[in-house]
Amino acid sequence: MPVPYWPQTALLHDHGDGAKPLGDILAQLQMMADIRVDPRRDYTQIYRQRFLDVHSNIIEAFSHINKLLQTWDALYLAAWNHVVVRAKQGFRYNEIMFAPQYHCFGKLTPKRVVEALVAGIKKAEEGYPDTETNLLFAIGRELKSHRAVKLLKVLEQCDRNYVVGANIVCDENKFPPERHRKTIEYALNAGINLEVHVSEWVRRPKQAPDFQRDLLMLIKNLRVVLGLFKKFKSKAKRRLGHGIALPYDSESMKFIADEQIGVTGCPGSNLQGRNIPDLKVLKIREMLRREVLWSMNPDDDFFQPELNEVFQMCDDAYRFTDEEKQKLLQNPWLTRFGNRKEHIF
Ligand SMILES: [Zn+2]
Repeated sequence: MPVPYWPQTALLHDHGDGAKPLGDILAQLQMMADIRVDPRRDYTQIYRQRFLDVHSNIIEAFSHINKLLQTWDALYLAAWNHVVVRAKQGFRYNEIMFAPQYHCFGKLTPKRVVEALVAGIKKAEEGYPDTETNLLFAIGRELKSHRAVKLLKVLEQCDRNYVVGANIVCDENKFPPERHRKTIEYALNAGINLEVHVSEWVRRPKQAPDFQRDLLMLIKNLRVVLGLFKKFKSKAKRRLGHGIALPYDSESMKFIADEQIGVTGCPGSNLQGRNIPDLKVLKIREMLRREVLWSMNPDDDFFQPELNEVFQMCDDAYRFTDEEKQKLLQNPWLTRFGNRKEHIF
């Protein structure tokens, strides 16, 4: 059955190195990296396969793609292509995430990585002037916090019209949010818009999925981040990435709604990663009812369901009302970090 068109026009949780647009240019990126390409092989499938083991090490899984993104030209192309593909898909506002730390194994510094990406975005926007794409400077949480803070200082020197915030990403099980108290404190004190991936997954390697077992830890992690958001008053905008346990913690839901902290949900990713047993446990209806600014996102649509499919899966589970659909369309606009252009939604 064809996937119905879901007219969401803003996308906030979109990892550049796991995105469908990148999957479309893998052969080209391999050639640019001097890797021999066999035209009979389907590289999209080969690379996708590396992500599909739910027990795989996430940093290792992404390293195969990030190996191709170590030069100015490759990063410029990746950003340019991302903007063009998302614009053609109908998105008018997009925040792409890239973590500079994974692109400095050649000659580039984190600042040059960002400059290459921003240059690609700017060039592509010339062809799509009604769209706005911004960069989220991601920080792999395996870094110690003093190194993460150093990267935030690099972010502060970048073109802030395009680099609209930071995002703490990657392995939450091994590196829970306590590790980045100082990082969060620095970002909020410096007025850097901040999203933190939290309450996404806490399963240990090789452990069988069990949502009920993990729920307490997911709530604990959520409360750590919200406690820091409370402690460090800031003008910066704040969001949570995933936040699976949020609807199981009434007080946190109230805080999030009162403070208008966005939540970028990624149901297709949560389901495919077996972090939830089914879509109903996300209690999307309950969050929308409590005025949580929850938005729907793909996470990594190179190897996970794309947004139209995610919407269809969720709509099958919830049968959203028109009012709920309206909120789902508006929430990503209301919680975006950038605002370079006038938009009507
Ligand atoms: Zn993510």
